[in-house]
Amino acid sequence: MSNEVAEPMLEIEDIVHRYGAVTALSNVSLSAAKGEFLTILGSSGSGKTTMLRVISGLELPTSVRRLRIGGQDVARLPAAKRNCTTVFQSYALFPHMNVVENVAYGLRIRKMNAADAQNEARRALAMVQLEAKADRRISQLSGGERQRVALARAVVTQPAVLLLDEPLGALDERLRQDMQIELMELQRSLGMTFVYITHSQEEALTMSDRVVLMSHGQIVQSGSPLDLFDRPESRFAAGFMGYENILEAKLIGREGTIGTVEFSGGLRIRGVITSPGLKTGESVAVAIRAERISPVAADAPESVEAKITSRVYRGKYTDITVVTGAGPLRLRSWHGMASETAEIQRVGWNTSDAVIFAA
Ligand code: ADP
Ligand code: MG
Repeated sequence: MSNEVAEPMLEIEDIVHRYGAVTALSNVSLSAAKGEFLTILGSSGSGKTTMLRVISGLELPTSVRRLRIGGQDVARLPAAKRNCTTVFQSYALFPHMNVVENVAYGLRIRKMNAADAQNEARRALAMVQLEAKADRRISQLSGGERQRVALARAVVTQPAVLLLDEPLGALDERLRQDMQIELMELQRSLGMTFVYITHSQEEALTMSDRVVLMSHGQIVQSGSPLDLFDRPESRFAAGFMGYENILEAKLIGREGTIGTVEFSGGLRIRGVITSPGLKTGESVAVAIRAERISPVAADAPESVEAKITSRVYRGKYTDITVVTGAGPLRLRSWHGMASETAEIQRVGWNTSDAVIFAA
């Protein structure tokens, strides 16, 4: 399976978790390599938090075949004995302690002496650019700074695996983008295994070595950010990853991974087949990103006759809708306004930009 990794730091096989009648996790297996930034991506309610709670030991799963952290079976260990720490969206800092005391806390309860704990805490604060605010009260910090303190507090104990549950969810857009980069840099410099949860595909694509896409308590697809972005294997994955065009067709031929599909009006195009075992004659869906489609000359290979039905100027780009023999298509054009007023007779794309999977 594609979820198998070399030198696994986290190994999970067949987790099932039910809350009464609700199945939150349904036979989920995944693993994370040492030093990997693994992101679990999915909409609200897909089971992401439940997964982290099971890993950390805050939730006892209904059943699990294997749950290991750093090679150790932790399925029956209490949360405090597992070599992992969780960072939550709500920072969960102690308001009566100052910044450095918050960070040193985890070391103190592990019986480190006060001076060493202070030093380690200050070093961790330096990693998140907060050493200058070490003596402040928590109430004197902004949201972004509080989240940095929470991060420093989590990494200072050097867990084998850091679990992060939508840690940037409470921050505004600009700060979120800065923090994404800082988090990546922190993870790389520590070489720590991160399991990061988000509902934002942009966040997942920006930060991760590998993305696991979840829906309804199951893994839909996992792979590199580029795989998820360019090679969705299902309608759900394509929709979640933002494909504007998903068309119905029939597979009428294939050569290796290149398939030829026919639309109901008889129009044919080629594309890349992503779902395994797809056979000629099967109903398929064809997904193409709006920004990969552009006006082309009559002899372009993957192209169709088109007639504009709407054109919406959006500043940085223009959204154009056309009707074609393959169905309505959305185009996104990043060119200047001059070309935007031109008529369109045909639109086309690269063969590799059309993705074909089982309908
Ligand atoms: P996510 O983090 O992806 O939003 P969750 O893991 O929180 O998803 O939830 C998965 C499913 O389990 C949802 O249907 C949610 O309503 C349900 N659920 C989560 N926690 C509880 C609970 N304590 N009791 C009952 N149902 C729960
Ligand atoms: Mg959640």
